[in-house]
Amino acid sequence: MIAIDRQLRRYFILVTVISVLVIFLLANAGMNFFFTRYVRESNLRSDNKVVSYIEDLYQANNGTFNSSFHVLVPLARGEGIEIRLKDLSGNVLLDTSAMGGMPWGNMSGRGMSGNGMGHGYRKGMESRSWEKEDLLYREYPVYFDSKKVALVEIGRGKSVISSAQDRSFFLTMNVLYIGALFLALVIAVFISSYVSKKFLRPLLAVKRNIESIAENKHNRLETVESSTTEIHELYRATRELSRTLQEQENLRKRLTSDIAHELRTPLATLQSYLEAMIDGVWQPTPERLSHCYDEIIRLTGLINNLSELSSIESEEILLNMTSVDLSKLMKNIVDTFQPMFKGKDIELTGIIQEDVRIRGDAARLNQIFVNLLSNAYKYTREKGKVTVTVKAAQGKAVVEVSDTGIGIAAADLPYIFERFYRGDPSRSRESGGSGIGLTITKALVEAHNGTISVESEPDKGTTFRVVFDLHNIFKSSS
Ligand code: ADP
Repeated sequence: MIAIDRQLRRYFILVTVISVLVIFLLANAGMNFFFTRYVRESNLRSDNKVVSYIEDLYQANNGTFNSSFHVLVPLARGEGIEIRLKDLSGNVLLDTSAMGGMPWGNMSGRGMSGNGMGHGYRKGMESRSWEKEDLLYREYPVYFDSKKVALVEIGRGKSVISSAQDRSFFLTMNVLYIGALFLALVIAVFISSYVSKKFLRPLLAVKRNIESIAENKHNRLETVESSTTEIHELYRATRELSRTLQEQENLRKRLTSDIAHELRTPLATLQSYLEAMIDGVWQPTPERLSHCYDEIIRLTGLINNLSELSSIESEEILLNMTSVDLSKLMKNIVDTFQPMFKGKDIELTGIIQEDVRIRGDAARLNQIFVNLLSNAYKYTREKGKVTVTVKAAQGKAVVEVSDTGIGIAAADLPYIFERFYRGDPSRSRESGGSGIGLTITKALVEAHNGTISVESEPDKGTTFRVVFDLHNIFKSSS
């Protein structure tokens, strides 16, 4: 394991070295290539000027060779070249190297320019070349009156970068590159430490936050400022994790206390009844025994509800999925509930669109709507109205159970699907509710990939809306 700042520094240094090396190599190669070409062409032009100058000398001397050609010696010296003039039989007429010519070393071709000599570059002039000692020789014909009268060999330094000045130019360039490399390395180290600090500081803060979460010290979470999207998202995710864990923790604590509370009341009643009967204070009359029995039934119901809820929530629930005709199912439920509602003088109406089908477990769907209708019954007073609507809209099956009952206070609305939550505990307990019914209902709806929502106004009524995906609405049977 390597710390992020060391890793970053390594990468930065590597990238810097590679970049400078690439620039160095490319610049050297490019310079060598273009420079060499330029010098070669320039040399050729200068050679042509020398040949033209020699032809001019022949012209001035009527095609003969004489001592005036010795002027070539200072010329060769000035240009840093060697000139060897030969007649057509190969006899050397003049050889500047044998006459104390200048040691080469000056980059040739440039001294000749602008002195008015020669006729410029002669294209197509035949020449051959060879190397001798450190010189590269080229041979050119010399013409007088369109007749070849002599041959001239011009020798120049082999190395293109021959002069001390030029060599020092290349050296300086490369020294500058090495300097640039060191400078770039120093900058890379600085930038890498800046960058690693920029990323590390918030990352370390997030790490500390995670440690606090692990120690269950959620109040110790630091605020992390970072302009980096990913780090900001990481920070937000840890905050979210902390929030969820706290919620879970609170839920767990509340659940334990709620269960204890739910069990305590019926058990205390049972205990006092039975104690009184054992002590002979109370006669075990059928009425008292039946009261004890009711409490036991309530306890069993509560435990059954809890175990059902836990199995639904732990996704152990196995849904027997088929294509269910929701319209038929709802009609049946409404019919079944009709006598019960009539008994309380509540008008129960079903506005049910035909053939609304969904994929689901018929028994579980039944349970969902029986729960909702039972609540509507429980929380609607006599002469109230309950309406069940089933319709298909925009690819969804929508079932609404509306009542004109007591309604739910706005403060209670967000919590009614939570375990043991009762809007009005005394009234709910009277009606036998334990606050688990809607939790189970919601879990079952969600197991069907559906959604459940509620709208309510105290003393006006409540509407529960359950939405599922439609299943092949045009097919009439499964
Ligand atoms: P309970 O067994 O207490 O009815 P539920 O989970 O079914 O538990 O409901 C939770 C709470 O939501 C109830 O205690 C009640 O306050 C409120 N509630 C549910 N349905 C209705 C309704 N149709 N009208 C008014 N209040 C309702």
